[in-house]
Amino acid sequence: MAVTAARAAAAAGGPASLSRFRGALVGAVLGDCVGGEFEGAEEVPMENVLRHLNSLDDDTKGDGILEYSDDTAMARCVVQSLLTRAGFDEQDMARRFAKEYSVSPGRGYGSGVIQVLKKLSSPQLSDVFQPARDQFNGRGSFGNGGAMRAAPFALAFPDLADVKRFARLGAMLTHSCSLGYNGAVLQALAVHLSLQGALDLPQQFISRLITEMEEVEGDEATRSDARVLKEAEKPFCDRLHRVKDLMDKSKVSIEEVISELGNGIAALHSVPTAIFCVLHCLQPRENLPENYGGLQRTMAYSLALGGDTDTIACMAGAIAGAHYGIETIPQTWIKCCEGAEDADANAEHLHTLYHQSPQGGVSGTGMQSCDAGLENQSDTSNSTEKL
Ligand SMILES: [Mg+2]
Repeated sequence: MAVTAARAAAAAGGPASLSRFRGALVGAVLGDCVGGEFEGAEEVPMENVLRHLNSLDDDTKGDGILEYSDDTAMARCVVQSLLTRAGFDEQDMARRFAKEYSVSPGRGYGSGVIQVLKKLSSPQLSDVFQPARDQFNGRGSFGNGGAMRAAPFALAFPDLADVKRFARLGAMLTHSCSLGYNGAVLQALAVHLSLQGALDLPQQFISRLITEMEEVEGDEATRSDARVLKEAEKPFCDRLHRVKDLMDKSKVSIEEVISELGNGIAALHSVPTAIFCVLHCLQPRENLPENYGGLQRTMAYSLALGGDTDTIACMAGAIAGAHYGIETIPQTWIKCCEGAEDADANAEHLHTLYHQSPQGGVSGTGMQSCDAGLENQSDTSNSTEKL
C-alpha cells in the first residue's frame, strides 16, 4: 500500500502541481456525468456500476455522450467568474449563474434554486444575496447546491482563509442556511488539502478537516440552525467524526455508510459522504476491479451508494482528482463526458491564477447569517430535487 501511495504521489507531482489541478476539475465533471445514470436510485448493485463504467471504454460511442448537469453548469460559471475577475466578484458570479440557467435550463436544477436564479437575472436587483436569503420563508436552503460547485475556490486561492471565505460567499448566492454554505466550505477545504498532498496521510487529513470545521462551525448562525434542525451542535464536525470512525473499521458495508453519513441532497448528507468515498478508496477494495486506479475506485464506490450520485461523485471526483492527478483518469472516460476537455483547459488557467495571486479576490461582501427555523424546508433525502 505504501508503494501504491508513493506511486500516486509521484504521478500527481508535488503540492499544487498542474496535474492535481487538472485532476480536480476533470474529476468533478466526470463524477457529475457518470453519476447521472444512477441519480435517485435507492439501490445500485456494484455490477451495474461496473457495467456502466466499462461501457465508457466503447470507442463506437460518440464524444461527450454523457451530458453534465447543474453541478458542472454552475461550477463552470464559478470558474469563468474567478478567471475573468481574477478573484471573487459576487455580482459577476450571480449574473453568470442566472445567464447560464436562462440559456440552458434543462440541466436538472431543483425548483428552489430556479426561483433564486430567476430573481438573480433581474437588472433591478442590488443585493445579489437577497434572493437566497428569501428562500424557505427567509430560512435559506441547506441543500448541496453550494458544495457541488465549491472545488474551483480551492483552485483559485492558495490561502486557506480565502478558500473558506470565498467558498462560503459563493455558496450564499443560492444557499443562505449555514448547513448549506458550511458544506461548501468543507468541500473546498477538502480539495485544498488534497491539492497539497494531504491525503498521503489519511488520518491527519480527516483530523485537519475536523479542526478547521470546529472553527467554521463555531458561530451563532451554525448553533442556531443546528438547534432548529435538531442536529449536533456542530453538524459537519459530528459527521466528520463518524467518517473517522468508519475509517477505523476493517469492514464497512454500503448500508452502514448510508445510515451513518447519508446519500441525500442536503449538504450534511452528502459532503462528508463524498469525503469518506475518497478515503475508503485510497487502497484497493475487494469488490472493485484490481486494475482500477484510485480515482476509478472512488467513482465506482460513490455511484454504488445510490441517492444523489451525480453530486456525491462530482464532489468525490474533485477531491480524488486533486490527489491522484490527471494521469490516472482514463482518456476514454474524459472523451465520453461533456465538458471534461473544457475543464482540463480551465484547470491550467486556474493553476496560473493560483500561483500568481498571494492575495485573495477582488472583492467580497460582509457575511450574512441565516435566520433560524426550517420547518417548511423538508430534507427529502431520497428525492432527486436539489433544494
Ligand atoms: Mg446534478
